[in-house]
Amino acid sequence: MLNKKSRSKRVVPRKRLIIFVPLPGEENYKPFFILSRFINDEEGILLENKTKEIKKEIVSELNRVKDLKDIEKLRVEYLGRKGVVTLLLRKLGILSPEERPKAGQLLNQTKREIEDLLKTKEVEIEKLEKEKRLQGEGIDITLPGRKIDKGAIHPINLVLKEIEEIFLSLGFKIEEGPEVELDYYNFEALNIPKDHPARDDQDSFYISREILLRTHTSPVEIRVMEKQLPPIRIIATGKCYRRDAADSTHSPMFHQIEGLAVDKDITFGDLKGVLTFFVHKMFGKDRKVRFRPGYFPFTEPSAEVDVSCLLCQGKGCSACGYSGWLEIMGAGETDPAVFKMVGYDPEKYSGFAFGMGAERIAMLKYGINDIRLFFENDLRFLKQF
Ligand SMILES: [Zn+2]
Repeated sequence: MLNKKSRSKRVVPRKRLIIFVPLPGEENYKPFFILSRFINDEEGILLENKTKEIKKEIVSELNRVKDLKDIEKLRVEYLGRKGVVTLLLRKLGILSPEERPKAGQLLNQTKREIEDLLKTKEVEIEKLEKEKRLQGEGIDITLPGRKIDKGAIHPINLVLKEIEEIFLSLGFKIEEGPEVELDYYNFEALNIPKDHPARDDQDSFYISREILLRTHTSPVEIRVMEKQLPPIRIIATGKCYRRDAADSTHSPMFHQIEGLAVDKDITFGDLKGVLTFFVHKMFGKDRKVRFRPGYFPFTEPSAEVDVSCLLCQGKGCSACGYSGWLEIMGAGETDPAVFKMVGYDPEKYSGFAFGMGAERIAMLKYGINDIRLFFENDLRFLKQF
């Protein structure tokens, strides 16, 4: 008769370990291990298959978890003191000493794999929760940045710069003079004595009897000539002031460009050549230039300079009063009386001068119909340049 021991020895070589295990949710069970030889497969479940089933189950459970609490629940359910895997491990004692290590190894391996799965999911959930939290903290990356408004050059300065460049290219130099000027430079030295009717056209803002805001940039001519002998080729640009009520063509403050050339043998032909060059550069080569007789106390002869209308090409329209021409500046040969004031010999030297309003030029160039637009600081206007 075989004793117990020898019988168990006989069955040890078997490779198949079979465990009856409870189905999930079945609390009242009595798990037991038995060798497959004594039962058929339908009644038992292979431990190997059981661990596979557990892993499959936990993977599908993990797909459903929503937060860390769910993961903790699963951890207790599988690996806790009464967890599925823990209970199986406890039953290892039932196995024979030969079978125990293999079954133990299998269950421990399963335990580690479950731990890894839980840990991976935990990290994933933590990351998601962190992202959610950050989103909830109200950082709206779609909010547009604060726009920095870039300034632009004022149309008057644009025109001044353009005019300066044209005359610089002809060898003229830029000179400056004070806006608060002496009556002497503003009027007297320019052949406009105190009782001269030309003063009526240039009523100024007086600071005292002898000091005023300049009414034109012509005083710069005198200041330059006082300091040096010819040859002179200068332009003077800057602000001028007249006591004019503001309307669409008048402003109490405006900008003027004054030009002066003095040398031996300067003729009216030089003046025409320079100003025609200027008009073609400023308004285009197809513009016609007309010199009409005019009057200025400091030039003789004097001329009003017209350019063929930019809108109707000289045919006549409301902008040019149906004349086909637009007046752009005054000019003339420098009056010998002015040369005498600065100590030049009128027999030796001759010259020409011209003056134009920057606003007038800008209005013609850009088609602006009201001078006041330049000084209202309306961004809708200024942004167009
Ligand atoms: Zn016209």
